[in-house]
Amino acid sequence: MISGYDKAARELLTFYVEAGVDAALGEEPVDRFADPGSAFAETVRGAEASQPARDRRPAPAAPAMPAAPAVALHAPPPPEEAIAAAREAARSAADLAALKAIMTAFEGCALRNTAKQLVFGDGNPQARLMLVGEAPGSDEDQQGVPFVGRSGQLLDRMLAAIGIARADAYIANIVPWRPPGNRDPSTHETQICLPFIQRQIELVDPDVIVCLGKPATVTLLGVTEGIRRTRGRWFPYQTGTREIRAIATYHPAYLLRTPIEKRLAWRDFLAIKRALSS
Ligand code: URA
Repeated sequence: MISGYDKAARELLTFYVEAGVDAALGEEPVDRFADPGSAFAETVRGAEASQPARDRRPAPAAPAMPAAPAVALHAPPPPEEAIAAAREAARSAADLAALKAIMTAFEGCALRNTAKQLVFGDGNPQARLMLVGEAPGSDEDQQGVPFVGRSGQLLDRMLAAIGIARADAYIANIVPWRPPGNRDPSTHETQICLPFIQRQIELVDPDVIVCLGKPATVTLLGVTEGIRRTRGRWFPYQTGTREIRAIATYHPAYLLRTPIEKRLAWRDFLAIKRALSS
């Protein structure tokens, strides 16, 4: 039997998850309003100061909070600086292991503060086929491996249907850290992470790239049309030293929501199969 206390706790947790608060950053809550030097306190003071005096209410006495340990959150550098740092760091990686180590240590993208861990590419580093998604979800964040949740399982079945085992392909994401609450990565976050996926592509050096969904297609191929227009079409992807054939197709998460579109994705996967056998 569920007690009233359990019920209230469950309702509160459900409320948090629905609001996108689904990542625990520390063992203890941190009362950022209690720190007079924090940006939060500054914002509250500013909002209070801009209120007409008659609307200001005396602040209720703050409940005594136990001193919380500082959570090690690194303030990221400004985006332009972070993009330049990511470019330089990515360029310096001689192989995938070095790139992974560099990305693990990279502090220029704030998403790493809320993600559990880096989700680096997975699969055969010598693969002829590389698939690129948008960003990890909750399951990927937990396991540190891309496309292991429901959309990953569908992707595995789609690959198997054209005779390719997941372990024979290489799978990665544009953004390697899970955005909190599965929100879309911002343009800045995407641009900061772009040099890393570009270097990952260079190092794997596949014959065919598959962009899963619009964000991966727009970011890697620079085409701005919607995925309905771009899916099934081949585009050149320039590594700087070589041109690779790249195709856009629907993201498996979209196919889970819209199974009728699987027939078009099936056409795309047959085209991928043909490209790999030519
Ligand atoms: N969706 C993505 O784009 N990438 C993953 O790794 C999982 C879901």
